[in-house]
Order: sequence, then structure tokens, then C-alpha cells
Amino acid sequence: MEGVIVGVESTAHTLSIGMVSESGELIPSESSVFTPEHGGIHPREAADHHSLVASELVSRVMDREGFAPSNVKAISFSQGPGLGPCLRVGASLARTLSKTWDVPLIGVNHCVAHIEVGRNQTGCDDPVLLYASGGNTQVIARAGSRYRVLGETLDIGIGNMLDKFARIHDIPFPGGPVIERLASEWASGGVSATSELELPYAVHGMDLAFSGILTAAISLSEREGLGASSWSLQEHSFASCIEVSERALAHTGKTELLLGGGVACNGRLREMAEIMCEERGATAHWPEKQYCIDNGTMIAELGRREIEMGRVTNLEDSAINPMLRTDSSPISWN
Ligand code: AMP
Ligand code: MG
Repeated sequence: MEGVIVGVESTAHTLSIGMVSESGELIPSESSVFTPEHGGIHPREAADHHSLVASELVSRVMDREGFAPSNVKAISFSQGPGLGPCLRVGASLARTLSKTWDVPLIGVNHCVAHIEVGRNQTGCDDPVLLYASGGNTQVIARAGSRYRVLGETLDIGIGNMLDKFARIHDIPFPGGPVIERLASEWASGGVSATSELELPYAVHGMDLAFSGILTAAISLSEREGLGASSWSLQEHSFASCIEVSERALAHTGKTELLLGGGVACNGRLREMAEIMCEERGATAHWPEKQYCIDNGTMIAELGRREIEMGRVTNLEDSAINPMLRTDSSPISWN
């Protein structure tokens, strides 16, 4: 039987344990999402949640696939970026499994994992990644031995912005999917005059910003209602991400756009990506929803690639790095 690499994801609200076979077959994760009763995510409360569910998730994924510890070849974990207390739980779990099962440990970059799972699943080769998630919004592409950040949000992640807008309207986390439904229900009535639904549009060169649009969308919702403002919020914020992605394709000469992160589950964002790519002779790709959101499988997949290149993480180098940058992790595979 082929061995597997186990991946531990714990950067923010989700603890997720996934696997990939040594030859690169993705095995779905078992996940548990911390959802606060009120307000935003408190890192320590999320970390407590992760500790409580950790051993159950490990057993669940192993039992489901009929794997014993002897099938496991390595343990991979998110070393950063993310919320310190949450990262620490994942790292401790990974160290413990690595020691107990006597297999190598490998700490990986969460943002890079979104790219590698997308490449594995969609077959795209050298994409520009639009990484649109709760805490992160970045446009990334490979140049030489690094994935470079070509543009990114200067304030909050697009998913956080959608979640905050939702929370103001008593919609619990995650708000993004509900806003998507409200927007499409409103638009299904036909969209005509939209000048009164205009919102700020924040593209700064290759960078983005979402706090201004959030404030303006909250006032718009008081005037025009939740459906119309949800629709307009999606149109403006997604268009800004697609514009920066298009410029990234133009500057790099690459011809594939890959979507990743939880917001990449959104049908309207996917449609905009497809239209833009078609217009410029490029192709748009996205993995299945379970691999767009944070998941342990993508951490396992990046771990597999790193181990193939001979990289492992010694215990003394396994400290988490909440501020880890996408472009600080060397990339040596094809
Ligand atoms: P992640 O941080 O990558 O795990 O993704 C979580 C974020 O994705 C949250 O901010 C969600 O609101 C957002 N999200 C999930 N599904 C959708 C969707 N269909 N449309 C917009 N945002 C979404
Ligand atoms: Mg993520």
C-alpha cells in the first residue's frame, strides 16, 4: 500500500486534518470550524476549540481511509502565516504525531499550499493565483525560486470584509456564502439603473483596500436594503481583485489564473474570472470548494512537494511564524 503524508491546518478558524498519497492523490480532510456565538474570532478561543477537536479529527480521517500510523510517511503543518495561538496548537499536534509515529516533520507556508493544491487539482502549471480568503487577499505568481506577491490588500482580507458586513446585519460567520445568496436573489429580479448603488473602488496600483468599501456598503444597506448593497459590494470588491489579477497576467505574460481561498467558492467571482480570462486568451481555474477553503489536504500536498525536494523541519526549527510571507519560502520543484 502506498504511504501518505498527513497535513495539519490550523492558521485561523479551522482545524483540519487531511492527507495526500506519496504519488499526489488528494484525500479529503476532516475539519472543524470554530464559530463564535458573538463578534469576531478571538484567537485564544479558536485555539481552545482546535485543542478540543484535534485527536478526534485525526482518528476520523485515519479510520475513514482505513489507515494505520504505519501508512504515514511524514507530518506536514502550517507554520504560518496566521493567528499565533491557533498555529501553536497545530504545530504541537504535528510535533506529537511526528514523534509518536517516528516520521519526519515538515513545516510549510499556508499561502503557498493554496497554490500547490490548486495546481494538483486543476492541472494548471504556472498560474497567477488570486488568493482571496478571510484574512488574506494577495495576487501571487512564481518568478524563479519564489512565489512573489505582486499585489495585496493594504488593510483587511476580502473575506473578513464580507464577514464584517454580514455581522452588522446579524448574519453569523461565515457571512460570504449568505451575501452571495442575497446578492444573486436580488439580481435575479433584473439589474437596471445602478448609479445609486455605487461604492468606492479601491485599487492602488497593484494593491487593494477594503475598509472604505465596507463602511460605504454599510451606509448603502441602510438606504437601499441588504440585497442591493450585498450585490453592489460583491460587484465592486470582486472587480477590483479581478483587475489586479488581469494586470498581473499582463505584466508576467502568464496565461492561467488560479483562484484559491474561501472567497474563491463564490460563483460570481468565478464568473468574473472566466470572463476576464476569455477576453485576453487566458484560462481560469479553481479547485473544488473543499480545497478552496482552509484544509489539511493542501498542507499535506505542499509537505509532499517539499519532502520530494529533500526538505524536512528539525524540532528546533519548528516554531510557528505568524508573519510568514509568501515570498520567504524557497520553491524548488517544477
Ligand atoms: P478561508 O479563510 O480561506 O478559510 O475562507 C473563509 C472565508 O471565505 C470567509 O471569510 C467566508 O465568508 C468566505 N467565503 C466562503 N464561501 C464564500 C462564498 N461563497 N462567497 C464569498 N465568500 C465566501
Ligand atoms: Mg487560507
